[in-house]
Amino acid sequence: MIDLRSDTVTKPSDKMRAAMAAAEVGDDVFGEDPTVNRLQERAAQVFEKEAALFVPTGSMGNEIAVKLHTKPGHEIVIEERGHVLNYELGAAALISGVTIRPVKSGDGSGHLTWEEIEPALHINQAYYVAPTALICLENTHNFAGGSVMTADHCAAVCEKAHAVGLPVHMDGSRIFNAAVALNTNVADLTRHCDSVMFTLSKGLGAPVGSMLLGTRAFIDEARTLRKRLGGGMRQIGILAAAGLIALEDGPKRLYEDHENARALAEGLAEIPGISIDRSKVQTNIVIFDVSGTGTTAGEICRRLKDAGVLAIGISKTQVRMVTHCDVKRADVDKTVTVVAGLLSE
Ligand SMILES: *Cc1c(COP(=O)(O)O)cnc(C)c1O
Repeated sequence: MIDLRSDTVTKPSDKMRAAMAAAEVGDDVFGEDPTVNRLQERAAQVFEKEAALFVPTGSMGNEIAVKLHTKPGHEIVIEERGHVLNYELGAAALISGVTIRPVKSGDGSGHLTWEEIEPALHINQAYYVAPTALICLENTHNFAGGSVMTADHCAAVCEKAHAVGLPVHMDGSRIFNAAVALNTNVADLTRHCDSVMFTLSKGLGAPVGSMLLGTRAFIDEARTLRKRLGGGMRQIGILAAAGLIALEDGPKRLYEDHENARALAEGLAEIPGISIDRSKVQTNIVIFDVSGTGTTAGEICRRLKDAGVLAIGISKTQVRMVTHCDVKRADVDKTVTVVAGLLSE
């Protein structure tokens, strides 16, 4: 099977498994797991933030951030296709008691400008309007097709947000993909964000884990909240050992995933009935429209599966394919051939 459903499907490498087997461990609830501590220190260093916390999932990292930045009854602002709104099952309402105000991205990139954000804000308004407490950004933007937000764009939004007293959380699940595509580093891409989450278990190849970053005081509170949510874990140096390799080695080869995504997009663009905006394929996510094929995304995915290729229909007319470290160039070429064959039948 060629599995293009997500970059979460990667299997830990032999090097990771060896490091996991050999990992020095301790009880992390007591702060005594040396490998977790090393991972947290290293992540903080890479992002040039004061501190970092290992969390089991990106969703937990995002939701801890939402909780720490808000009070019940507050509102948070996010682009309308954002993960925190659409794919965290109402957790912000459940855990933090906040409402989410979705805002449409005018250029379709998923990256809101301050001009788009500002009209959605409730600051110093009447007492009967829920005050805005947080702006949540996403880089790369998953359902906008892995689009990248530049460091300048992020800095500009943060500067304006801070000027009106609002914190900014960066859902940087795939921030390393953005850094590679923009030829910059993750510290510059998140420098002015009050908190950042990134994921070890996507393109970076670890089996489990995300990291939450911020000030030391923020991370101290985050640790308490992680425990309250049932996320206090014990000898997780086993996972952190894989995470350390993901953090050091993972980013170095992401350019291959981006090259493969571009090749995939170019191949698919040649197929009658498929429409794809190649300029939108900036990282490792390829979303294409199948309206012109006379069939649905769901049906195409079912037939692809029978032919040995896994993809996800993200709407009736759109299919998403994601490249990752377990996808080779030959797999991309085969995928294009399979899709072309299937649609010419
Ligand atoms: C994958 C993802 C997350 C976190 O997902 P988990 O499955 O909870 O680890 C958060 N934000 C974005 C944009 C993502 O793509």
